[in-house]
Amino acid sequence: MKVGVVGLQGDVEEHVQQLRRAAEELGITVKVVWIRERDEMKDMWGVVIPGGESTTISRLIDKFGLREEIIRIREEGGVIMGTCAGTIILAVEGDESVVEKGVSLLKMVNIKVDRNAFGRQRESFEAPVHLDLPPTGAFKGWRGEFPGVFIRAPRITDVGEGVDVVGDLNGEPVMVKQGNVLALTFHPELTDDTLIHKYFLTLLP
Ligand code: GLN
Repeated sequence: MKVGVVGLQGDVEEHVQQLRRAAEELGITVKVVWIRERDEMKDMWGVVIPGGESTTISRLIDKFGLREEIIRIREEGGVIMGTCAGTIILAVEGDESVVEKGVSLLKMVNIKVDRNAFGRQRESFEAPVHLDLPPTGAFKGWRGEFPGVFIRAPRITDVGEGVDVVGDLNGEPVMVKQGNVLALTFHPELTDDTLIHKYFLTLLP
């Protein structure tokens, strides 16, 4: 099984390492690729869009022709996960700053996002997130706390039809799932806990 991390800008290496550790812990063989070109996405069943700068990442996704491949992989039953800037890109709608900065949205998750919503005072913080991951296939489901690392995080301001909130911070959605697409406003690749990357891998077809 091959999965990849969109590797054009942002915290790519951290996701690659975390996916490798997660696969090892699950005892499954997964090839984890740093995606720089469209051709590398052949036979790929999982894609992570990392945190970073959403305008830049989204423009590079278009420039390198990765958009069509991400759409194809999702349509064929593969799994897509966005973290932080990646979540902004996956949303169907963004606030004025998303529009003004020309973020090219993939519109795969029926949420509205507010970019840099926490403002300067609370630009970055760590807080325990409450997760309630539903069971799928071999995965029995999981409920508990996960260390949430928030860095200039967006806020999910509206959750539409078809979207399940699977993680919250004091009642506010910070991780959502729509079918085989996961979107998180925090950074699970920056903690020692591989739970979310393992969950991503268990969703693979
Ligand atoms: N706020 C940033 C953006 O809009 C995202 C920050 C991050 O991914 N850590 O691009």
